Amino acid sequence: MSSIQTVGIIGAGTMGNGIAQACAVSGIRVVMVDVAQAAVDKGLATVAGSLDRLIKKEKLTAEGKAAALALIQGSTSYDDLKGAQLVIEAATENEGLKVKILQQLDDILAPEVIVATNTSSISITKLAAATKRSDKFIGMHFFNPVPMMALVEIIRGLQTSDATHGAVKALAEALGKTPITVKNAPGFVVNRILVPMINEAFFVLAEGVATAEDIDAGMKLGTNQPIGPLALADMIGLDVCLAVMNVYMAEFNDSKYRPAPLLKEMVAAGWLGRKTGKGVYTY
Ligand code: NAD
Repeated sequence: MSSIQTVGIIGAGTMGNGIAQACAVSGIRVVMVDVAQAAVDKGLATVAGSLDRLIKKEKLTAEGKAAALALIQGSTSYDDLKGAQLVIEAATENEGLKVKILQQLDDILAPEVIVATNTSSISITKLAAATKRSDKFIGMHFFNPVPMMALVEIIRGLQTSDATHGAVKALAEALGKTPITVKNAPGFVVNRILVPMINEAFFVLAEGVATAEDIDAGMKLGTNQPIGPLALADMIGLDVCLAVMNVYMAEFNDSKYRPAPLLKEMVAAGWLGRKTGKGVYTY
């Protein structure tokens, strides 16, 4: 059982509004803060649209939608976070910005309030050290789209207490998610294994072992993944995949993480995937 009744969320973007929706449909009050009213409004509209799709699929009633929306308060003021028992930081992925936000939260929140970050790549131990509540700081890594994806990686920094871990695990379960517990390390678990697999697919493609279509068909049908690694790279962005490999290379200092030359070459060409209309495939 989770004792958390009100969750604060920093950032109303892709992840922030998804987390807000997941909390609200589970009956948890949310205060979602962004820097500009336009960003807050966009986040709230995204939740409303997502709930409408659930109604269409007969997974939610109109009353359920109204009840969920009534639980979400949008705001541009950090002062509105004062009643929250836990705050999840889901702002833009930038270490300096996150440190600034965490220090702002330290000044506003009572000392017992837990602070979690949804960062994909920044060290939880390092962010914890920048707060005045390092034992009450933890990673809560949701997956996109949050309302659909069952997994939450719960990342313990070196300083995270057992009580903090227990409270956040209970919250993830109250949201209907399946938490896994992870020790702080680059890429945590899922991206640490996923991105090198994608990188390997570029080596296999460059060596001419098989065509892109056959590599993707092989991995889809042979390992029961919904999408092949090269098509997935196009979705994630080849530049993002390359940046992640560069981080592993720097952090682990192990040549097994060297980025595939073909991946680097395609990024240099500006072939970044779906977002540029061309990656491994043409869109
Ligand atoms: P996004 O750009 O969609 O949203 C970020 C929001 O943060 C924006 O609305 C921005 O205005 C707001 N923001 C910036 N500074 C702020 C501040 N000082 N106070 C309050 N709000 C502020 O980004 P996103 O994709 O939602 O990513 C958010 C976090 O989640 C990042 O740390 C990212 O690494 C992580 N993440 C993203 C994904 C994904 O697939 N998008 C998956 C898992 C984790």
